[in-house]
Amino acid sequence: VENAVREDHYSQLGVTAEASNEEIRQAYRRLVMKWHPDRHHTATDKAQAEIRFKAIQSAYSVIGDPDARKRYDVLNKFGGLNPDDFRHPFSEQTQRNWEDDLRSRAPAGADVKWKTSVSLKDAQEGCTVIYPRKFKEPCDDCEGQGWNRVVCPECRGRGMNSSRLRYCSTCYGHGTTECECGNCEGRGRIDQVDNLKIRVPAGVLDGSEMVAKRCGKQSRYGGHNGDLHVTIKIKPEGGWKFAGRDIVGTLKLPFSIALFGGAVVAELPLGRTLEVTIAPRTNSGKKIRLAGAGLVGHDGVRGDAILNVTIVLPKSRKKLAPEVEEAIRGLDAEVQT
Ligand SMILES: [Zn+2]
Ligand SMILES: [Zn+2]
Repeated sequence: VENAVREDHYSQLGVTAEASNEEIRQAYRRLVMKWHPDRHHTATDKAQAEIRFKAIQSAYSVIGDPDARKRYDVLNKFGGLNPDDFRHPFSEQTQRNWEDDLRSRAPAGADVKWKTSVSLKDAQEGCTVIYPRKFKEPCDDCEGQGWNRVVCPECRGRGMNSSRLRYCSTCYGHGTTECECGNCEGRGRIDQVDNLKIRVPAGVLDGSEMVAKRCGKQSRYGGHNGDLHVTIKIKPEGGWKFAGRDIVGTLKLPFSIALFGGAVVAELPLGRTLEVTIAPRTNSGKKIRLAGAGLVGHDGVRGDAILNVTIVLPKSRKKLAPEVEEAIRGLDAEVQT
């Protein structure tokens, strides 16, 4: 009997530690009905039932209350304390210190990874991005319980049946009964979203990572939130793609420059231009790496621009002189297959 009282609150109600609040509530209802002293008649049965009845109520007073359950779980899992220690009376101050301590001892919520894209201009100048953080908040209507206490409809609060000989079988003599909260549909929590503004510093590069402390998932055990890891991507623009401090784009070469070599002006992002010397016979698909023509990192080092050559034929449909056409056709013989 002594053991039965000292048993873990979950086994007391015949549920696992993973049971939902609803499952716990149902188990409790079933058991108080079964072990109600009124339902047992011999003196021994009655005495035993009374002990079980009290133990069940005591277990439910803890794990039937989501907040108390959370604390109980933490102590059970991470504090290694006896369930009875949980019932020690705390002064308000001790309680507060204890809760602070618990918060930092309890496992924090999970970290969240989030990618977001910004324009090159915003990345260079700094900007604000909005992270839609999802979280759960205790329901106001039921104070996070998932249910509200209402006057028992069966006995209208009297706690006894109409002949007044027995406890009311609906409320077991309490006079009140639990009614699922309509606002949260019994979950006790309401899903919320708030838009967190996250400041992106000037000069971030594609792939830069930032950490917003404690903006990740909520802890299931009353600990701190996890962190939010933000990866910044820079949106491609004007044919340019960005990768760290390097920029990748296309260099269109007129046919004659590709063939004979020469200088062209490459237009880079952010309005910069750069004269590029092209070697004779530069083919389409060649990659030209311009060292130091990329973006500047926080260490002041500039990346490279990588240009993929594309040869552009003249647009004009003007007929070429026969000797010009013949000369150009003559070049085909040199093309390796
Ligand atoms: Zn009742
Ligand atoms: Zn509610």
